[in-house]
Amino acid sequence: MPLPPRLTREAKTITAMVELYCRNNHDFPKGTICESCHEFLEYARKRLSNCPFQEQKPTCGKCTVHCYKKEMQLRARKIMRHSGPRMILTHPLMAFLHLLDGKKRVPDRRSSRQAKKNQPKNNRGTQK
Ligand SMILES: [Zn+2]
Repeated sequence: MPLPPRLTREAKTITAMVELYCRNNHDFPKGTICESCHEFLEYARKRLSNCPFQEQKPTCGKCTVHCYKKEMQLRARKIMRHSGPRMILTHPLMAFLHLLDGKKRVPDRRSSRQAKKNQPKNNRGTQK
């Protein structure tokens, strides 16, 4: 199932961060990532597509629902700590947008469900 635009961007940001982290820490050439980083990325994408906030999702660092399992959470933290500050240099636009996403108010679960209910039915599933 394709992700809504907000989450597609988030997925792109995560991918870029993992690639950057892997390149600098696991010595893999540009454009490829090692198996363990690949595994993490798959996991992160899966969590994104299951995110209850969808379009209203804050950045994962600010999220009120901690959906990563412990081990993956630790890996995420390590990757973000390494790649976060470097993103400004390698992917300035992406880093900027991520910063804006991080400034959004974090919706609580109840209001996000409410928002979904108020959405016209034919709006669902039409996103590319
Ligand atoms: Zn790696």
